[in-house]
Amino acid sequence: MVLVFAESQKGQFKKSAFEAITYGKKTADAMGTTCAALVLGTASGADELGKYGASNVYHVAADSLDQFDSQVYANVIAQAVEKVGAKVVIVSHSSTGKSILGRIAVRLNAGSVAGVNSVPTADGAFKVKKNVFSGKAIAEYQIDSDVKALSLMGNSLQPEVVGEATAVETLEVEVPSSRITIKEVKRIEGTVPLPEAELVVSAGRGMKGPENWGIIEDLANVLGATTACSRPVADTGWRPHHEHVGQTGVAIRPNLYIAAGISGAIQHLAGVNSSKVIVVINKDPEAPFFKAADYGICADLFDVVPKLTEAIKKYKAEN
Ligand SMILES: Cc1cc2nc3c(=O)[nH]c(=O)nc-3n(C[C@H](O)[C@H](O)[C@H](O)COP(=O)(O)OP(=O)(O)OC[C@H]3O[C@@H](n4cnc5c(N)ncnc54)[C@H](O)[C@@H]3O)c2cc1C
Repeated sequence: MVLVFAESQKGQFKKSAFEAITYGKKTADAMGTTCAALVLGTASGADELGKYGASNVYHVAADSLDQFDSQVYANVIAQAVEKVGAKVVIVSHSSTGKSILGRIAVRLNAGSVAGVNSVPTADGAFKVKKNVFSGKAIAEYQIDSDVKALSLMGNSLQPEVVGEATAVETLEVEVPSSRITIKEVKRIEGTVPLPEAELVVSAGRGMKGPENWGIIEDLANVLGATTACSRPVADTGWRPHHEHVGQTGVAIRPNLYIAAGISGAIQHLAGVNSSKVIVVINKDPEAPFFKAADYGICADLFDVVPKLTEAIKKYKAEN
């Protein structure tokens, strides 16, 4: 069996959970086995996970699991893997997934690969692929251990509805008490978080100052996109740090990445070059970002961005 941890936040499943179940189902098909979902704490609509390919949905219902603690989660997930006899355990490559994958692997003596983006081949050897060297190469890993642990890179595949809702079964495992106390949680409300965003509008030092960001926000609003920025922009306090993308910031994989006034330094590209379509707006024809772009607009962003926003508004009104 393949067991997928379906991540939820404030009782709601994240899109990455549906991606992970879809991936788990494809992995199970490749191995000739079934896929099950694991839900921890309060989460509504767990039965719906069946639609994405989970034959069983297991639920560990302890209230304490509503607060995320990586040690507790890893402990509970590892127990669940042993209890249901799963041979592959999959989590999302989110901040939650990243903080538990290694712990789960150690508990299960499992070979693990973080950030996979292809369905494993399971005819004979179990092999998975992931991007390496800032997306410049693809590495293939063979996992030989009995149990395997993987985290799935976000937006590697689209969730697919392949079945029906499934009854949720309670799984009895021992939930250890947490050794940490969470005093306060500050959430960024309103927009889709960058790692999950399908559309991102980003800007850099070419904006000249924080007072000019209105045109970027207007473009993002009309598209329903999340805003991002280059590192110096966050370092100088023009934009909040959680918007910083790149090697030392958030790594993203949206369907569309629009970059205005960003030069395209290698450290910036490291976090964004897995985007499906990249549009670059820069007035310097020699800007390195144009080499990584699918579409390039060589012009002044203060002229182009408002025009783009108006054109999209008009298109949306007419269609
Ligand atoms: C160890 C290390 C890690 C780093 N990690 C990151 C990271 O994670 N993310 C990151 O972004 N950077 C990172 N950097 C910094 C990176 O090297 C670059 O310095 C940075 O990305 C440049 O930001 P920028 O493109 O906004 O600014 P600039 O390099 O100053 O580029 C501004 C661009 O705007 C264009 N422009 C100016 N005016 C206009 C206009 N009116 N219209 C259109 N275009 C205009 C210019 O032609 C220029 O190309 C890192 C650096 C180091 C050393």
